[in-house]
Amino acid sequence: MPAQHDLIIRNGTVYDGSGGPGMRADVGVRGDLIAAVGDLADATGGEEIDASGQAVVPGFIDVHSHDDMLVLVEPDVTGKTMQGVTTVVVGNCGSGVVPYQRARDGLMRALDVPDEFPTWSSYPQYLDVLDAHAPSLNVAVLVGHGTLRSGAMGGPAEQRPPSAEELVQMRGWLAEGLEAGAVGVSTGLIYEPGRYTETAELIEMAKECGRIGGLYASHIRGEGATLLDAVSEAIRIGEEGGCPTQISHHKATGEANWGRVHESLALIEQARSRGLDVLADQYPYIASSTGLAAIALNAREGGAGMDGESIFIASAPRTPQHEGKYLSAIADELDLPLDDAIDKLLGDNSRTVTIVAFGMDEADVRTVLRHESTMVGTDGLGWGSRPHPRHFGTYPRILQHYVREEGVITLEAAIQKMTSMPAEQFRLTDRGYVQEGLAADLVVFDPAAIVDHATFEDPRNAPSGMPHVIVNGAAVVRDGEHTHARAGRALRRGG
Ligand SMILES: [Zn+2]
Repeated sequence: MPAQHDLIIRNGTVYDGSGGPGMRADVGVRGDLIAAVGDLADATGGEEIDASGQAVVPGFIDVHSHDDMLVLVEPDVTGKTMQGVTTVVVGNCGSGVVPYQRARDGLMRALDVPDEFPTWSSYPQYLDVLDAHAPSLNVAVLVGHGTLRSGAMGGPAEQRPPSAEELVQMRGWLAEGLEAGAVGVSTGLIYEPGRYTETAELIEMAKECGRIGGLYASHIRGEGATLLDAVSEAIRIGEEGGCPTQISHHKATGEANWGRVHESLALIEQARSRGLDVLADQYPYIASSTGLAAIALNAREGGAGMDGESIFIASAPRTPQHEGKYLSAIADELDLPLDDAIDKLLGDNSRTVTIVAFGMDEADVRTVLRHESTMVGTDGLGWGSRPHPRHFGTYPRILQHYVREEGVITLEAAIQKMTSMPAEQFRLTDRGYVQEGLAADLVVFDPAAIVDHATFEDPRNAPSGMPHVIVNGAAVVRDGEHTHARAGRALRRGG
């Protein structure tokens, strides 16, 4: 009797995620698991995919996402699934989902949330909601410190340390999340309320990760002139908390700071050589994207002006006519000085405006991508008419541009940074490799033909050359089309 599989992917070149070379092999899937890797000529599959000439790799793990609400509002999560992402880590930059109302009032305001939307009052319940309303991909969850702080202290604008009682509340919510399987805590130290926190408060948060498990992921306090101090602070917080540190979207912004990534990478190397577990993530673009309110506040407090020529509007829900336009052009149109135009935009949109800002150096992007401490994450914000293309094109852009065309890193290294490296660091121990017994999250693509079509002008385009994406054994993308399969689930730390 030949072995029977539910699905066999035949004749592909398997890159198992370890960073090793590709090998010709078939992959057999039974249920939601990889059942066999090797020559399966004698086996039959209920379904078969011919992957001749294609790479077969583990599903990509997007370690830096803001899809906490999006996975429930738009469960196909097409921006991610069509580019091979089979797991998103949500809750980054301090912005999480507990307490619920603070999350609805936060960054997620930009989404069109339907009336019958589910609610929750804790992280264990949020994880259950994800399982019950399964999206097309898996979701691992970071607890957002900023949202906890707003909830405990009565709003995001409190510029004081928390009282003992408030700190107990924050630690309690965090511990409850970590015990239910959250992968760590995140902070956003340029945003309200993260920017008002002292290092000691953040160490208290990291200690919960040290005690229960999970890492400290941080949008650090500065990515420009104060980059090195900010990286050192993050490393110290993880060290004193007794947990790994994840530097989010590692970069140096502002022309005066270009090249500083050599020094910030050296800080990471020094920490690692002392035995500390410090890694980082990156999206492969010279433009960033975030809230207009946050960058305006930071620019004003720093005494710096905003450069209206380098920043365009990604999303402005109540004045969509401004989406895609540069701030300088909007100021001209409104016949206002730049700062007044920004205030008007924020006022007209209840402060919910996202922007795209060109401020990085291409050489830095390459230096960070090449470094062994860097894994891949999108940081995508998938709403508005002109979102940053990273939400749709991060993975194909690396595979096409930085691997095939420019040779900045090898295909094997790129796949490792997208798969096993995040799985190991975020303790998603049941996936991240093409290996018998692990979850069948798989991507089939053609390394010689993959093309990223997500541009700044027209971001919402799926790549070509990536025909199949499998999540927990089910085809979510088949022959280049989304199948609407809802094969994802909440992933809990430790598998
Ligand atoms: Zn961030």
